[in-house]
Amino acid sequence: MLPDPIYVTGTDTDVGKTVVSALLAQVLDRAYWKPVQAGRPTDRDTVAALTGVPTHPEALVLERPASPHAALQTEGRTLDLEALTLPAGPLIVEGAGGWMVPYSMTDDHVVWQADVVRHLRLPVIVVARSGLGTLNHTLSTLRAIRADGIVPVGLILVGPAHPENERDLPRLGGVPVLARLDRATLPDDAPKLAASLRQQLDQASPGPVRSPGREAEGLWHPFTQLKGFVPRGNVVRAEGAWLTLGNGRRVLDGISSWWVTLHGHSHPAVMAAIAEQAHTFDQVILADFAHGPAVELSAQLAQVLPGDVDHVFYSDDGSTSVEVALKMALQGHRQLGANRTRFVAFDGAYHGDTAGAMSVGERGPFTDAFEPMMFDVTHLPYDDADALDAWLDAHGHEVAGVILEPMVQGAAGMRFCSAEFLVRVRAACDRVGAWMITDEVFTGFGRTGRMWASDHANLVPDIMCLSKGLTGGSIAMGATACRTHIFEAFLDDDHARAFLHGHSYTGSPIACAASLASLALFETEGTLARVAAIEAAYTQASAPLRDLEGVENLRIRGDILAYEVKGGPGGYFDPVGRRICDRAFAEDLYVRPLGNTLYMVPPLCTTPAEIAWAVDILIRATRAELGRGA
Ligand code: PLP
Repeated sequence: MLPDPIYVTGTDTDVGKTVVSALLAQVLDRAYWKPVQAGRPTDRDTVAALTGVPTHPEALVLERPASPHAALQTEGRTLDLEALTLPAGPLIVEGAGGWMVPYSMTDDHVVWQADVVRHLRLPVIVVARSGLGTLNHTLSTLRAIRADGIVPVGLILVGPAHPENERDLPRLGGVPVLARLDRATLPDDAPKLAASLRQQLDQASPGPVRSPGREAEGLWHPFTQLKGFVPRGNVVRAEGAWLTLGNGRRVLDGISSWWVTLHGHSHPAVMAAIAEQAHTFDQVILADFAHGPAVELSAQLAQVLPGDVDHVFYSDDGSTSVEVALKMALQGHRQLGANRTRFVAFDGAYHGDTAGAMSVGERGPFTDAFEPMMFDVTHLPYDDADALDAWLDAHGHEVAGVILEPMVQGAAGMRFCSAEFLVRVRAACDRVGAWMITDEVFTGFGRTGRMWASDHANLVPDIMCLSKGLTGGSIAMGATACRTHIFEAFLDDDHARAFLHGHSYTGSPIACAASLASLALFETEGTLARVAAIEAAYTQASAPLRDLEGVENLRIRGDILAYEVKGGPGGYFDPVGRRICDRAFAEDLYVRPLGNTLYMVPPLCTTPAEIAWAVDILIRATRAELGRGA
């Protein structure tokens, strides 16, 4: 059974969309509605006369038989999308022309069919010709619909039987052919066509219904306003730097799926390690037992972490690695006899979404609702060592830890700081006896060009938070590593002085196995050299951005390229970045903005040629958006 209501679009004008809509209404016992009609007689009149199905009046009737946007322009009118509402009751909605026909166009705004479909939250079926030429038209239409983030439900073909096309279209287009109708004219053939359509629909199995916005009712996407939300597509594979969507389309994952993917998606060595461990044993409690993968990983991390940062506590993700660091610092100082209960953090910081991690993060729209569950933290300007010195000189004796994202604040909009700042933070912490906590959840494992961002300053932090790239980005795990003097503060005959913290999945053997495989790849694949190659490719490919009016603060560090686009309100809610990313996505580059900050952080297997290709897309998308008066 077809979903109700449903939107009928075509691969072109004249493919038989109105006939099919009328017959669908008749066979499925629904009313017919065409929101925008251009030209007379209206399709509504034709449908009513031919099939007698009930019809609803159009939202707009335009005199000129043209594309709706052109007919509207002739009459000096526009389409008010917000005012468009679905008539009640079972319904077939007929669309305009082919998919890429705009409904309305002004100097600074286009309302596409996709906007109408999204607004009305309708699933879509496509009417196409059955014979020669249909592959190109139908597959292009399906691709365009999916590029708009909408998953089509099926095809209805019109015209003589063409078994090859009927066989190949579902495979190539990823949607079922629900029915085929011989080209015919109504009303003479109406009874015959209706009977044929009814019979075919009874046997058809439409694709899973993905009404734009409806999936949101079940699946709650992170950091997403779900009202009217349509996902960019369904991922069915992920390999190397590329994601494959349900329709076979491949897009480059320009942000490493939120900065996690390190050597590439589904790296065979990492996947094999996961599979092997999964065949050996799964989760076991790490309170009373040890196991090989955790023992080995701790030893290997101790090898690659700086100085005596040798003691590793496992948790679930970046946020929990930060919670552990904060609790470790509070309890550690207390057990060393110091009354240090305050944390210093930096403006713009992001350390995760759990209560402690939020407390040390930047306060604002993301945290306002949660103030009651957060504790008081001193936030000082990032990259301003003088301010830190001055504050610590007065209050340093109260401070348990100074927490920061070394070299780059990711979520703040890829804000860079100097290595000198890190050196001064280290010195200030030493001076006042506070512990330096580096949150390397984003920057760790080579992202900034060195194994650890703190390596840029050649220093040894007291506590380090790791996650994201730890498992190569394959599976969740957090780790908090500390220096020996902190670890020893927890050694005691008294059980109450142990670090009384843990998670059900602490030390997941499968995640440890993945991490070991990922660490090994640094050697075998020359991962840090790959980052250097990406950095060089960025420098070359991004040259045109340097002189682009409206672009500022282009910066590159390791795998990170970022810049701001001026002209809008700025900040996280500036829509300009989103619009640029939409344009880039249409060209198969997936990036996600941080407001008006555009950035790339692709998997480290991305080749220099792919970087050049992706940066070029980003430049053209930015230029196009700026040209439109961003
Ligand atoms: N710390 C930093 C620096 C981060 O960038 C993030 C996430 O982006 C986190 C902590 C939180 O990590 P997770 O999302 O795994 O909880």
